[in-house]
Parts: sequence; structure tokens; C-alpha cells
Amino acid sequence: MPKEVMIGSGVGLMLFMIFLGINVFPIILFGLLAVVLFIMFEGQLQDKIAGFGTSVKTIEPVTFDDVGGQDTAIAEFKEALEFLLKPLEIVKMGIRPIKGIILVGPPGTGKTLLAKAAASYTKSAFVAASGSEFIEMYAGVGAKRVRQLFSEARKKAKREGKSGAIVFIDELEILGAKRGSHHSHMEYDQTLNQLLVEMDGISNDAETMLLVVGATNRADMLDPAILRPGRFDRQVIVNLPDKKGRLKILMIHTQNKPLADDVCLEDIAKATFGFSGAQIESLANEAAILALRDGEQRIAHRYFVEAIDKVILGEKLDRRLSDEELQRVSIHEAGHAVVSELVKPGSVSSLTIVPRGQALGFMRKNTPEHDQYLYTRQELEEQIMVALGGAVAEDMNFGSRSTGARNDFEQAWTLAKDIITSGMSTLGVIAVTEVPSELVFKECTAMLKNIEEKTTNLLDDNRHLLQAVSSRLLEEETLERARFLDIIQTA
Ligand code: ATP
Repeated sequence: MPKEVMIGSGVGLMLFMIFLGINVFPIILFGLLAVVLFIMFEGQLQDKIAGFGTSVKTIEPVTFDDVGGQDTAIAEFKEALEFLLKPLEIVKMGIRPIKGIILVGPPGTGKTLLAKAAASYTKSAFVAASGSEFIEMYAGVGAKRVRQLFSEARKKAKREGKSGAIVFIDELEILGAKRGSHHSHMEYDQTLNQLLVEMDGISNDAETMLLVVGATNRADMLDPAILRPGRFDRQVIVNLPDKKGRLKILMIHTQNKPLADDVCLEDIAKATFGFSGAQIESLANEAAILALRDGEQRIAHRYFVEAIDKVILGEKLDRRLSDEELQRVSIHEAGHAVVSELVKPGSVSSLTIVPRGQALGFMRKNTPEHDQYLYTRQELEEQIMVALGGAVAEDMNFGSRSTGARNDFEQAWTLAKDIITSGMSTLGVIAVTEVPSELVFKECTAMLKNIEEKTTNLLDDNRHLLQAVSSRLLEEETLERARFLDIIQTA
């Protein structure tokens, strides 16, 4: 029924009731209350309805200062955001607007954070959805959700009095994968087509300037149509942070935490090579939890060190190993540690036989002064020796190996393949795709056999160290660097 007819009928009814002498004052009061409540809740309701489950989130005040270790990505991103900041100049110069930016990088590097910061930087509204939320078994639902997301972005910008909106789509590879590549491809294709239609509809003269920011860690899976100029024509790489970046992220996430005087964030940044921003955030959080568990008022450095292990390997377990298993684990870890110290003095940080996550024990390496991205053949061979050291030590001591070396072997195999693909094996310079896989397999096996022999000889010559470290480890469960060094030097 049209609104006007309803209002007209309502007024008519009131007049008729007054005419009959009925007191209409409570009814009017009730009506007014209903209208006020309706207006108050309408905004929230719209957020919920729009998207039928698509999470349309309200932006928290995130700025580029909250994103650490991504200076290059931020600079490139800001450049692309100029047109949202200066729409008039862009129109005057006849510049085609940038409609889409893709943030490409590993999980947890801050892509969502960057998109949110972009919204506050450009004073735009922010709506977000994830690629997987669009895909349903029912035909047409995904396409409808895409339409709703864009329409919600426009509405939200209007509601918040903003001239632009950022539409953030996480896991873009699910929504924007190459057409025809999915099993139920009709539905996927329709959804992608709708996204392309919406993006084609973005124009300079629209009431609300829209920018679509997609995030993915699989840019190779995206349909070429999505990357065409005029669609997602800018790619910003969001890499894992380097040491300086990790320090900045640590500073951001310890800002609100009471740190003890002995905390050295530099050292923690050094020890977390390969960590993403999300892992560093989790590390800071875990350190605080560990300190709280011990009833401490402030977070000491050792809690951060323990939190590193926790983030890498998982929670400490109460699992009880049998005595034989404990002996095996201690000789295994001692094998890793002795080889590591012999091939690269100063490389062992600590070793333990306290189970954590999937690991029954582990040796932590000392992190080098600087992040390392390039390795020589010798360095890779040494790493393989360290990886094989555990199984070789078990073999020497018990005359058998165990399943505990499975991950070590995988690591050794990967490193051996790295040597081959980098042209540092006896196969010489190769393109791995052009070489029969049997040949690569044979080269890997030969190389590993050779390195295994070297490791056995090394440990054989240093049996006394192996025994000393393993028996101490069995007694003390965890050996920090100073204690380990002490044992090695006095053995
Ligand atoms: P995914 O690809 O898994 O969606 P993402 O790259 O979008 O991950 P975010 O969701 O932005 O990562 O990061 C998750 C959390 O990790 C953030 O809320 C923040 O606390 C922390 N974080 C990640 N990267 C950074 C960073 N560069 N600086 C500061 N904090 C970060």
C-alpha cells in the first residue's frame, strides 16, 4: 500500500475518533514513539539486511600509522588514492578514475588494515566482504550479493555524508578466479560478471566515488578480465615485513602493554624472520597472556621469547612421553644442535624436549644479525646437515630411526631442490620444468646421500659432544644458549 494512502487513512481515522469523542492523545504519543524508534534502528537494520549475511562492517579508526613495515605498499597505495582526494582535478584533466586496486601478499600482512586505513585517509565510507561469502549453491545469489554490496557502499557514503566509498573484497581469488575454472562454474561466472558490470559502472561524475580494493594471495588465479585496464588496473604488493618493519609492528602492538625494563624489541624483531604482521600481533598478545598467567604485572623479555615458540609451534602440551621416547627425542635434538654449532658456530639459540604443538622437541636457531634472502650452495648444504643431524644421531645411538624425522626430511628435500633449481647442482643451469622429474629426483637423492654421509662422519667424530648434550637435555629438559655452550666447551 502506498505510504500516502496509509498516512491519509490514519489521519482520517483520528479525525473520526475525535468526532466520536474518543481521547486520541495516548494513540498519538504511541505513534510518535514508534516513529522515533523506527528512525533510530533503521540505519543498523539496513547494515544487517544489505548483503544477506555479507558482513558489512563499520570502520574502526585505522590509519596508515597503524600499519607497520609496509612503507612501499603505503606509498604506492596513497598514490592511487589521490583521485578520491582530488576528484575535481581528475575530472578537469580528463583522467579515467582508478576503479580497482589489488593488494597482493601472504596472509596476515595487513591487507585489510591497509584498506581500512585508505578509507580513513580519503574520508570515505568502508564496506567489506569476503570472496567466499558470495558463493552459494544457488544460482544468482552471488550476483545479487555483489549488487547489494555496491549499493550499500553508495548508501553508506550518503548516510555518513561522505563523497566516496571503498568496497573491500577479501579473498578476491574465490570471486574473481579464471572463468570456467570452478566446478559449479555457472554460478561463479555470473558473480564475477556482476562484479565486472558494477566496476564498469563506476564513473567520475557519479554522486559517490567508488573504489574497489581487492585482496588476494593468489594473483595468478585471477581472471584476466579482472586485471584489464579500467578494472583492477593497479597491483600493490604487500610483502612479509623485514626486520625494521617487524620492529615497527612490535612497537605498534606493544604500545598498550606494560613492558618490563629488560624487553629488547630489536632482539625480538631479529628473531622473528618470516613472521607476518598478524603473527607478530599474536606474539605480543601471547607474551602478555604468559606474563598474566605467572601473575606478573609487567611483561618480561623471556615471555616474548616463549611466545615466539608458541606462535611457531603451538601451545606446550602435557603429553607424557615414555622414557625411551624421551631418550630418543633428546638424542635427536642434540644431533641437530651439535651439527648446527659445528658447521656454524653461534647458531644454536636453545633446545628443548618439552612437547609443543606437533613437535616432541625442537632446536631453535639463533637468528642472524640481518635478514637473509640469498644462500650459497655451502649454506644450503649446511642447513641440510642440520636437518639430517637428528635422524643420523638416532641411528648412531639406537641403530634405528623414527617417525620424528619426517619433517626434517621434507625440509632437507626442499633445500636440495633449491640447490638444483638454482643451478648449483651437478645438473648445472636448468629450467626445472624442462628437465624430466626422474632426473631431478635422482640428483636430489644422490646429493642427500652424500650430505648424510658427511653428517654421519661429523657426528661420529664428535660423539662425546652428542652424548654430553643429550644427557644434560634429558635431565634439564631445556637448554638455553649459555648452558648449551657450557656443556660443549667442557665435554
Ligand atoms: P588475510 O590475507 O589473511 O585476510 P590480511 O593481509 O588482510 O590477511 P590483516 O587482516 O590486515 O591481514 O591483519 C590481521 C591483523 O594482524 C591486523 O588486525 C593487525 O592486528 C595485524 N597486522 C597484520 N599486518 C600488520 C601490519 N603490517 N602492521 C600492524 N599490524 C598488522
